Amino acid sequence: MKKSKQLEQYTPLVGEDILNVIYEKASKLRGLHILHINTTAKGGGVAEILEGLDPIAHEFELTQSRKVIQLDESISHFTSHLVDMLQGNEPGEISAGERERFLDWLGQSRLSEHDDHADIYVVHDYQLVPLAQIYSWLRPAIWFCHVDTAQPNPHAKSYLQDFLDAYELCVFNSEPSVFPEIRPELAHVMTLGIDPFRRKNAPLDQNRGLQLLQKCGIDVRRPLITQVARYDRWKDPWQAVDVYRPVKQQMPEVQLAFVGAMEATDDKGAVKVLHDLQRYVGDDKDVHLLSDPAVIGDDEVNAFQRYSSVILQRSTREGFGLTATEAMWKNQPVIGTSATGLRIQLVDGENGYIVDDTQSCAERTLELLRDRDRWQQLGRNAHEHVRKHYLLPMMVLSYLDALEKVHL
Ligand code: UDP
Repeated sequence: MKKSKQLEQYTPLVGEDILNVIYEKASKLRGLHILHINTTAKGGGVAEILEGLDPIAHEFELTQSRKVIQLDESISHFTSHLVDMLQGNEPGEISAGERERFLDWLGQSRLSEHDDHADIYVVHDYQLVPLAQIYSWLRPAIWFCHVDTAQPNPHAKSYLQDFLDAYELCVFNSEPSVFPEIRPELAHVMTLGIDPFRRKNAPLDQNRGLQLLQKCGIDVRRPLITQVARYDRWKDPWQAVDVYRPVKQQMPEVQLAFVGAMEATDDKGAVKVLHDLQRYVGDDKDVHLLSDPAVIGDDEVNAFQRYSSVILQRSTREGFGLTATEAMWKNQPVIGTSATGLRIQLVDGENGYIVDDTQSCAERTLELLRDRDRWQQLGRNAHEHVRKHYLLPMMVLSYLDALEKVHL
């Protein structure tokens, strides 16, 4: 059985047993070529997951390749309406014309049976779900739903379901997101884990961390509240501003930062959210909106998650918030919401807080800013919770399980 050098580093964190199970499963899958098809080369949770899996798969002699189908302006209205319906149960239907136009567009993605051939295909996200029906040679195929589909608009859900017969397995990132109509053997809940050895999550000494924050315009002598997230309406950055305002009245020295490197400058949705947020914040110099990927890299994300005074994750919808897990690993008790993924990741009052309304969130923020012993205790529990449940080996095991289900 081939061992993985990278996974061996986890022995003191997760124990040997899980690694042995992984090695055994991986040995049965050796030599397979898996093609991952998604919409972005960089940025966001999907890219993060693949970057975590790739090097380990390589050690197991699994070939992982990537095909990026870049969405363009002509279909952005359709895809953004679709995700709003899926996640937010927004009203609306998908008309036959809209559906046809989108399928025509996707049919031009020019996947080639010859050049893109693999043993297993993994199609990521809600936009690309029709691919396995369009290209009948994409078999066996796994569909990976990354968004929060716990309360979908029924029309949007049924649009997706029309394409699911072409898949051998449908993967969701939390139990509540699984469509109840899917036969249990076709559904798989994948545990998502973070890699504490990669730069974004690795130890970063305090001097260096504070220097990085200073470079981003933060006054490191004053308290800082941070939300790390893409500029996306479902991450609800506006509520973070509403939380900050009453906190600032009680504690005038406090600052607020949003960290969301915009990898794709043509992401019109993100640009719109950022502009709207800029207007919402007004001329408050203590609110920092960071979006330039030349300024915000892995070290900066690490520094913000590690050395902010309080971390917020105010998402109203969240499949599974990797940013929350990353911050928890860095001893931060995240103040999240009851959004699908977050209520699974956080244990209220034990390793963070789950509060939805603005006033309760402001109260918890002030509590953690003032009572640093409490903050530290919850933060220690947060780190321990991630160690037990959400590290990379757990994700690797869950991924191999999914491959095994469609391969054997
Ligand atoms: N991220 C980043 N730079 C940023 C903001 C986010 O690298 O400026 C990363 C973040 O660390 C996390 C991922 O993007 O690994 C976001 O994943 P998450 O599941 O939280 O949200 P998604 O973007 O998939 O909705």
